Amino acid sequence: MKTIYIFNIYKYNMTDEDESVNLIKERENIKKDIENLHKKISYQKDKIDELNKKIFNSCNHIWEKDIDSSPFAITKYYCIKCSLWRIKSMYV
Ligand SMILES: [Zn+2]
Repeated sequence: MKTIYIFNIYKYNMTDEDESVNLIKERENIKKDIENLHKKISYQKDKIDELNKKIFNSCNHIWEKDIDSSPFAITKYYCIKCSLWRIKSMYV
């Protein structure tokens, strides 16, 4: 689907009586909502990364072996208190 910008409605003199105009507006508003939600998710993921860095450095970790981990995993240990993996480089 090619992106049609909302200003094309005005550029090509499409009127509100044209049923498709309202549908296009509704679709474009939904796209904008999705874009804003993606931005919010990205922002929240960055905040989680920042919190994980602080948690990794402040938790008195209790490491436990993850029996379900892959034999190729970088580490098999996670903290039973904060649930972070025992790989400092992930949290710097
Ligand atoms: Zn911990």
